[in-house]
Amino acid sequence: MESKYRIRVQAIAIADDNGSHAPDVSAGAIKARLLPVNEIFAPANIEFVFNEQTDFLKINSTVHNRDFTVLEPPNLEGGKWDHNPKIDKVTHQQARNELAKQFPGRVVMIFHHREEIKKEDDASRWSIVFNDGGSSGGTDFYLEGSEDLAGVHLAHELGHYLQLPHTFEGGVANVDQAATKIRKYVEDDGHKKEDGLDALDGDRAIALDTPADVASGIWESEGLNKCGRVGKISIPVEFNDGSERTYTLQPDRSNVMSYFKGCSGEKTFSPQQVRRMRDSLELRLRHQLISIKPSFSHRIQRGGTGLAGAIESVACAVIRFGRLTTAVHLGDGRLKLIVWDINEAGSEVARRGDAAAGTVKDFSVSSLGQNMFATAVTTPADRLKVTLWRVDENGDVTRLGSQQRPGTIRNTAISMIKYGIGAGFFATASQRVDHRIALDVWEARADGSLIHKVSDACEPPFSIPASATAPQLAMSAVGFESVACHHVHESMHYTTLLWGYNQGDNRIVEKARLVNAFAKVVGSCSPARELSVAAVRDVNDTLKLLAFRCGADGKWMEAGGIAGDAEIANIDVCPVGTEMVATGHRRGEGSNRLKVILWQVTKSGSNIIRLADFAAEEEFSLLSMCQTNRSQFATAIRDSAGKLRVIAWRVVPDATAFPGTSVPIGDIVADLPSPVGRREPASTAPGARPANSELDDNCDTDPDS
Ligand SMILES: [Zn+2]
Repeated sequence: MESKYRIRVQAIAIADDNGSHAPDVSAGAIKARLLPVNEIFAPANIEFVFNEQTDFLKINSTVHNRDFTVLEPPNLEGGKWDHNPKIDKVTHQQARNELAKQFPGRVVMIFHHREEIKKEDDASRWSIVFNDGGSSGGTDFYLEGSEDLAGVHLAHELGHYLQLPHTFEGGVANVDQAATKIRKYVEDDGHKKEDGLDALDGDRAIALDTPADVASGIWESEGLNKCGRVGKISIPVEFNDGSERTYTLQPDRSNVMSYFKGCSGEKTFSPQQVRRMRDSLELRLRHQLISIKPSFSHRIQRGGTGLAGAIESVACAVIRFGRLTTAVHLGDGRLKLIVWDINEAGSEVARRGDAAAGTVKDFSVSSLGQNMFATAVTTPADRLKVTLWRVDENGDVTRLGSQQRPGTIRNTAISMIKYGIGAGFFATASQRVDHRIALDVWEARADGSLIHKVSDACEPPFSIPASATAPQLAMSAVGFESVACHHVHESMHYTTLLWGYNQGDNRIVEKARLVNAFAKVVGSCSPARELSVAAVRDVNDTLKLLAFRCGADGKWMEAGGIAGDAEIANIDVCPVGTEMVATGHRRGEGSNRLKVILWQVTKSGSNIIRLADFAAEEEFSLLSMCQTNRSQFATAIRDSAGKLRVIAWRVVPDATAFPGTSVPIGDIVADLPSPVGRREPASTAPGARPANSELDDNCDTDPDS
């Protein structure tokens, strides 16, 4: 069984300034409503915890309570309009966003007076009506509902919050429309007739184990009760070639993410929906709900080590917590993928399956969720090739879809974002021969298909001098559907591009660019939603961390930085928990030994604080890092014998740092070698302890304690 995640809830009930339009909901009611919700989430090993005394807030604020302000007076009797009136929603949403941001690390549930503008059925009149529903989304800061939001409806909104889509395909109200959709899917999109029903499978991009579903309208159009005994509808389809086929639509009416949620009976998530929700916590935006937070009592402890054969270079990516893949370049140019499992204590690193991935010049690897990952490689013919892979439960690796891009890419410059943008989207960057950076957006679907969405190229913001260093690219997702691309050019110019993918227009949009100081090597990761951190080896061969913040206003700024150790070589950086990163680099002073450092990156990005160090005995020449658990990360290195070595690390509380103040993270750490890490004098100075240094681990700590 995988780890249990306890997610803390913050409930907010909002009334107007004068106390009117108050939702009838109490702390006790919310506590009671979470009981059935937790039963539904139990098979996912996710529990929502709520303390009536501390986790319930009541405020009076009209701007927070209202859904919108109407911007034109009614022109019909009874406060109605003869057209859909102009309204301002954004002001109210932004106000609630700012409120919700005050409670990081919790699911914020806002109960308020919800209204909408509705066209009346019997006439061309629009009026304001009460909206008793709920609403939530995979990147939203809060979920919201009227005072009635409860039961499976609340579970449904929490499913959205944890990045689940609906099971159904929208816009299908009757059998004719369903048949048209299937016909188009087969005849226009080139799918097989036997797969025609997939046209009606709304969440097929992320889950293959929920059946086709078009919501409940089709039941009503057939004169059926959507919750009634009849659970199937026949869809006869006539194809242009004269053939006929009848499909049977039989949705899972017990699925929480369907629109049969109002029907009685047991409600469930499918196993792949569960995986998707856990991925949102482990790999994607929702990680702050389960992550450990910065603390001066953190210390880095070394865990187990896994060994493999001789390699030339290595990159690693987390598959899900407790499992990672290493992509290794063998001496003869072949790429090999090896899967590793790390146990909950971090004390054992076990090798699982592997797969050959062809001959390549350079490569990068990224997790995708749903037990999938992607490799992006430079082929021997200097083309960009992207391949999807799936890891089975036993750790075996299977090759899925693959695509090659036209155009020559130069040298070794290729990378991709770690956590995906939007739903199943990810991106690659590669440096073209003309020095432009080519960005490609891809979609990975749960059935293993790979779709190239769009390509664009950015001009380099500098002139092209002679070659001085190997080009480097590093990317991390930041802000909303955007990516920070850190690029060190041959000339050692170091630039950061912020660009986004507009899914509606299928367009890449450059949002900002910064020209930074010269550098030789760069790694990047995202420790919080609005932050991208780059670890660079600067021209003086010292480690430098730079935080880049992408504000809600869309502004992009270099917010802070700090110089680290001298004389570093290969470096990498990965997120640990929330608002923290770990870096790995060569120790310096003539030593090739590995050193890992834990840093806090403040939410504003303006400060980077060194929290803990660990100096290891391993000599190494190449390094890649990834987070592997709530409080763990791994380094994959090429050791002094030229072999692959995967080392597990965990961040643990140091009881001696501030006696009497440390709270254990949860698990008891046993069977680990005693640490030899040293700590920075500044971080142990009692007066320097920041307000947030108290260990606040939402997952294992009962909110009462
Ligand atoms: Zn929904």
